[in-house]
Amino acid sequence: MPHFYTEPTITVLARPQFIEPAHLPVNWMGESTDGERLAEFAGRLCYMSQKNPANRTTREYLENIKKQGHGSVLEHATYSLLFEGVSRSLTHELVRHRAGFAYSQLSQRYVDESEAAFVVPPSIIGDESLLKAWQTQIESAQTSYVALVAELMERYKWVEDKVHRRKMAREAARGVLPNSTETKIVVTANVRGWRTMLELRSSEGAEFEIRRMAVMTLRIMQKEAPGMFSDFETYIAPDRAEAARIAYHKI
Ligand SMILES: Cc1cc2nc3c(=O)[nH]c(=O)nc-3n(C[C@H](O)[C@H](O)[C@H](O)COP(=O)(O)OP(=O)(O)OC[C@H]3O[C@@H](n4cnc5c(N)ncnc54)[C@H](O)[C@@H]3O)c2cc1C
Repeated sequence: MPHFYTEPTITVLARPQFIEPAHLPVNWMGESTDGERLAEFAGRLCYMSQKNPANRTTREYLENIKKQGHGSVLEHATYSLLFEGVSRSLTHELVRHRAGFAYSQLSQRYVDESEAAFVVPPSIIGDESLLKAWQTQIESAQTSYVALVAELMERYKWVEDKVHRRKMAREAARGVLPNSTETKIVVTANVRGWRTMLELRSSEGAEFEIRRMAVMTLRIMQKEAPGMFSDFETYIAPDRAEAARIAYHKI
């Protein structure tokens, strides 16, 4: 019986480390994280306003940046997240976000999927009969995959390089694996990119699995850098699932 995920696991792999230059100190006010300070430092450099004449806290300063639409300042802060327990269909949608993003995803050509896990589509969770029908198809697909890999390894046994032969078998056999196959992906993006992706994918129009992932990611980013994500608010949409909306649209 394969492992079935009912929600993703999201891990922060990297966050900015801000090193203040001794010759350009900023009159910081209020609480802040390194990512927020980096963005404030970059923004203040433009007008050489390190003295902070308006006596703004970092989060007030960043609120104004978002309001004014100076999104380029937010590009300096970059965060890397590891997503596990997400489906191939989710990552297929995620990788459409290009500007400011970098991706590294598990290879189905190199990695054996005989014991792959699968992600239960959120709309199926809680309905035993739908879940059973879905699981039956998944298990049958996995059985076919295992059989195909074995047969293809036999068919191409004349290929001397075993790594290459396995790749040939797996890349063909994966054709029978469903969109729900679990995958892992490392995603690095700057805050401007994260904001755009989260706005689109946490909205009511987004597909349920990526929307759930976006809402979870948003909560993580709101802890990492409140000043750069405070204008998002989550709510329960009419379809009874969580969604989020943004105050300062696509800056
Ligand atoms: C609800 C929903 C449904 C969708 N349905 C479909 C679908 O059915 N089929 C489908 O194919 N896609 C679909 N998409 C994907 C969508 O078309 C975009 O590919 C995806 O949302 C990424 O958006 P983006 O290009 O703005 O993002 P990014 O690539 O992150 O770009 C961000 C911004 O940078 C600028 N930019 C980036 N690249 C360029 C460029 N090359 N030239 C000029 N400006 C650029 C643009 O201003 C862009 O908005 C869907 C998306 C959503 C949210």
